[in-house]
Amino acid sequence: MFGGKGAGLAEMTRLGLPVPPGFTITTEVCNMYYSNGKRLPRKLMSEVKKNIVKMEKKTGKKFGSTQDPLLVSVRSGAAISMPGMMDTILNLGLNSQTVIGLAKKSSNPRFAWDSYRRFLQLFGKVVFGINDKKFDQVLDRAKHAQNVQMDSDLNEESLKNIVSEYKTICENHLGKPFPEDPYKQLELAIEAVFRSWMGERAVVYREKYKITRDIANGTAVNVVTMVFGNMGNDSATGVVFTRNPGDGTRKIFGEYLVNAQGEDVVAGIRTPQPIDNLAKELPKTYVRLMKTCEKLEKHYKEPQDIEFTVEQGKFYLLQTRSAKMNAIGMIKTSVDMVKEKLISKERAILRLQLEQLDQLLHKTIDGEAVKNYPSIVKGIAASPGAATGIVVFDVKKAVQMGEDGVKVILVREETKPEDVPAFFVSMGILTSRGGKTSHAAVVARGMGKPCIVGCSDMKIDYIAKKFQVDGKTFFEGEVITIDGSDGNVFLGEVPTIEPKITDDFRTILRWAEKTKRLGIRANADTPETAGLAREYGAKGIGLCRTERMFNARDRLGLFVDMIMARTVEERKAVLEKLMVLQKSDFKEILKVMEGYHVTIRLLDPPLHEFLPNIEELINKIHLFEKQNSQDEIAATKKFLDRARELAEINPMMGHRGVRVGITFPEIYEMQIRAICEAVADLTKNKVDAHAQIMIPQVGNVTELNHVKKIYEKIKSSTESKFGIKLKINFGTMLEVVRACLTADEIAKVTEFFSFGTNDLTQAVFSFSREDAEGKFLPEYLEKEILVENPFQSLDVNGVGSLMQIAIEKGKSVKPNLEIGICGEHGGDPNSIKFCHNAGLNYVSASSHRIPIAIIAAAQAALIKKSTKSKTKKPKKKR
Ligand code: ADP
Ligand code: MG
Ligand code: MG
Repeated sequence: MFGGKGAGLAEMTRLGLPVPPGFTITTEVCNMYYSNGKRLPRKLMSEVKKNIVKMEKKTGKKFGSTQDPLLVSVRSGAAISMPGMMDTILNLGLNSQTVIGLAKKSSNPRFAWDSYRRFLQLFGKVVFGINDKKFDQVLDRAKHAQNVQMDSDLNEESLKNIVSEYKTICENHLGKPFPEDPYKQLELAIEAVFRSWMGERAVVYREKYKITRDIANGTAVNVVTMVFGNMGNDSATGVVFTRNPGDGTRKIFGEYLVNAQGEDVVAGIRTPQPIDNLAKELPKTYVRLMKTCEKLEKHYKEPQDIEFTVEQGKFYLLQTRSAKMNAIGMIKTSVDMVKEKLISKERAILRLQLEQLDQLLHKTIDGEAVKNYPSIVKGIAASPGAATGIVVFDVKKAVQMGEDGVKVILVREETKPEDVPAFFVSMGILTSRGGKTSHAAVVARGMGKPCIVGCSDMKIDYIAKKFQVDGKTFFEGEVITIDGSDGNVFLGEVPTIEPKITDDFRTILRWAEKTKRLGIRANADTPETAGLAREYGAKGIGLCRTERMFNARDRLGLFVDMIMARTVEERKAVLEKLMVLQKSDFKEILKVMEGYHVTIRLLDPPLHEFLPNIEELINKIHLFEKQNSQDEIAATKKFLDRARELAEINPMMGHRGVRVGITFPEIYEMQIRAICEAVADLTKNKVDAHAQIMIPQVGNVTELNHVKKIYEKIKSSTESKFGIKLKINFGTMLEVVRACLTADEIAKVTEFFSFGTNDLTQAVFSFSREDAEGKFLPEYLEKEILVENPFQSLDVNGVGSLMQIAIEKGKSVKPNLEIGICGEHGGDPNSIKFCHNAGLNYVSASSHRIPIAIIAAAQAALIKKSTKSKTKKPKKKR
């Protein structure tokens, strides 16, 4: 209700920290504003007045006074912080009379006029929607005229001129005088904050970060007494993190500017000072700041992101919130805070934002290979990771190209909130101005995008679409690689290396391992990915797709031969060759996963998927006809005939999976034999191999029975041939609705179930993934017909219910039946939560998601535990 900012201010006040007096208009009022046809509730302004009077009493100043005017800031703040997404108005209450009062009272006319011009610009921009550029141009001209570089060097005279020009800009835009009455200004400002909630930037941000109404519903408005960091050289404003958000180091990190106000630090207008310099420049403030950081961390048990202002030596806090950090920072602070006894291990696990951990599993520059690439320029490393792409200067163009799948690096002098859409689609961001807390840096870090800022040697020319460094010119479209970990920009595509898990990450994984109940397996089709998965902590393979092996270059030819075979004998001859290859593949994978279950799915896709597509074949024939190459024509026609024969209207529900296995039994026979012999060979060599044969697309127990007979025959013949018992289980995927509904029958003949939630989701929704995602799903999400893409996050109500039916039926027959999930959902944190609660034995996720799955499983267990204990407590009391 108070929004994050309001709650933080209230809490800091309660802790006795120096917060300027103020009040908060709740998010409820914002909702009333919207349900009221975008009108402020009638009583609001009289309430506001009462609160202003309270502030007047506390500060001894008066709103609108020409002697000692009270000025306020009007700030937005939703439940979830959306940094830079909505605008703040500073110095509200100034007009042509009060500015004179402020000048007199402060004996500092320069400061008063500086505050006034800031007010006019922000008010003009936020309330009237006037383009920032118009104001910036005036400011630049004034600096030029006075021959100074920095806004803090502008004198009273220049500032007065700026104010008068700013007013003209506003009045030309409005067609009427600028509002002088402070209460009118306040009313307009409050309304503007409410409006900004539905502004494009805010809406896009919420969409991208999946901030739904249950998470944040409307913005609050905070009205806060102004304190002035622009009152001279004993005044300053700054932003600090209580720990380094880039790597988690326990040392305050941030920047400040002397004689500045508001967003100057973030905007990159002047280059801010590193916070350490404050120890020399304003030593008392520095000590105060350090103590405050410690106090806030102790209280919130989370590293904080703080805004402070010093007014003539007096220290004020303007904001605190939990610091957004990159993944390395999150992990390190989790481990450190446990060591410092600030938080428990449980909290250390729960506070991790899983999607963010993906960053750690991102690539970095190859330190050896990079020596062969010229570094063009170096800037400030602002967000780690390596990214390659073509240089694009224009934000719209970057968005367009990025959405078309082109890898772009957005290159700008600085960025503003309206540029954020380009961040989402760019591989990385490079700016020539700004520091580590500049807009570009903060946003990129939040998104885990590699970013370099403050690359001041780079001179950008937007018009000519080029940048220059040391007289060398680089044009838009050139390929560069940026290293967000050390700030280097390279020409060309520098090779990168895959990430490694740090010691801190391992520590967290160890804790998570002990906490979780769910097993974690990998979706892996090759020995390499299986190896990676095992290293990342996977205990087994939940899905090994055999067709991926046929797609490898040396196999595809054989597989196509198999499909083209006209007789069973012909087909068996080819399959014999394939069997040798499959067996060796299986052996390698089983060996890598020694000691754990490896679930191998028999052939699933329809056969035509392995043939060239029909159109392509027709084109080829035309071409050969032109060249008159008869042999080629005949050969291609054969392919065309077969492709037409096998073509399907709806392949998703067509001749695939067990249906192929039954109609072309020699294929499954070959695969089963390859598995049996692989296990046999390994077992003979004392390798603890344990395979699970999984049949896809089963809808009816009779299908399974049919295949099972074949399996049993091959297994027992292999066992007697090798004279050993094979550790192999037989089971099925559950991905057909009918199979779920008859899971009790199916359980009788299987040793395990594995939910194939991709197909199951398609079946439950009755739409195909490709068509959905390609055509209507984006609009469904935009219009909130669906809140999430059900192919990414399990549809708990629909697909989940069906799963629960199947689980119940399956377990009614075999209480200890092994049940897992192997769809893409196996790596999605929310879906993992569902799987934990539904009592599944394991989830299977793609190799690079394994660490995330492990932590998600631990979080699921902890959340379940805490809700259980919460619901138990009241019972005890009774
Ligand atoms: P954001 O949500 O973008 O961080 P804020 O509401 O925190 O916006 O305001 C932006 C900047 O304005 C902050 O950096 C803060 O320093 C400054 N500011 C806000 N309120 C005041 C105030 N009452 N006195 C002085 N500076 C303020
Ligand atoms: Mg802001
Ligand atoms: Mg702020």
